Amino acid sequence: MKLDAIKVYQVDLPLVEGRYSWSEGKYVDVFDCTVVELITDDGRSAFGEVCPLGPFYLPAFGAGARAGIGELAPTLLGQDPTAVSVINDMMDAALLGHPYVKSAIDMACWDMLGKSSNKSVSDLMGGKFGESVALYRAISQGSAEHMAENVAGHRADGYTKFQLKVGGKREDDIARIHAVADILSDSETLVADANTGWRVDDAHRVVNAVRDRDVYIEQPCRTYDHCLAVRRNTNLPFILDENIHGLDALLRGHADGAMDAINLKISKVGGLTKARIIRDVCVSLRIPMTIEDSWGGDIITAAIAHLAHSTPEALRFSATDFNSYVTVENATGAPKRINGTMKASDAPGLGIDPNRDVLGKPVAEYKR
Ligand code: MG
Repeated sequence: MKLDAIKVYQVDLPLVEGRYSWSEGKYVDVFDCTVVELITDDGRSAFGEVCPLGPFYLPAFGAGARAGIGELAPTLLGQDPTAVSVINDMMDAALLGHPYVKSAIDMACWDMLGKSSNKSVSDLMGGKFGESVALYRAISQGSAEHMAENVAGHRADGYTKFQLKVGGKREDDIARIHAVADILSDSETLVADANTGWRVDDAHRVVNAVRDRDVYIEQPCRTYDHCLAVRRNTNLPFILDENIHGLDALLRGHADGAMDAINLKISKVGGLTKARIIRDVCVSLRIPMTIEDSWGGDIITAAIAHLAHSTPEALRFSATDFNSYVTVENATGAPKRINGTMKASDAPGLGIDPNRDVLGKPVAEYKR
């Protein structure tokens, strides 16, 4: 099997809630998603997706994904897309860094591997653990009262884990954490995610002010060293996300005792192949993970479900059903949330069929 053509599509994903806001006044109204189609010489198609959280969350942006795929296309055409390790090695040799660019291609390679072997991606990754995957709900930043109302509303959808977007003014964030902690029960989970938005002195003051609440603190500051300083000043459970951008960062954080859990985002680390390696190391080291991506539609939600469902339940902190946050369905067959959980498909590959009407015409096409 050889790769004959690569097609690239751009899809806008508007939000159900109209806007998603997080630290330092950042927000997105419409997500810029890129879908990659790989087409082989025996007529098979496979799909991957990448969707940065705007251009200012990680070093990634929509147009950059599409340009990067064009940069890699000459290297990939003519290769066997099911040889995922070989493809990753070639991509890393042809283009340094830019993990998010490689993520959509790698995801499509796993879809192709599954379709050609008649196995789901989760089965290829070792099999499914448990019946379903418990999800968390990200709560867009707003007033303390509004965020508490939002949490209460999403409880009705079966969610039991809530991630508050903080990283704003210190005193506002303290009020947000208290307002939501007040309404949650011991069986629910609250995370305050500052998304790098606090200065280290403000982070110290916030963790001191909420020290008696049952809340996880996630990625308080921009640098790893500042996060580690905050970590050493608090007994609250601690999650690292933005700073865990690869296996080296994970191992350093583990050696330093810098976190109790991580957020593993597929595109942050360069795709499913690399995410699976990090996942397996976390399983061996007993580090719980939230398995997700920077954002996404149905194709990314399917990929998250496969990676999460093939992760032992004891190490699965949570996962994300991004397709329930957006109004556009870029594929059918992706998991749909049921009572705060989702299941990976048993169908071959990612188990999705792209919605061609939504993809529209390719914005770029590369052929052998
Ligand atoms: Mg986070």
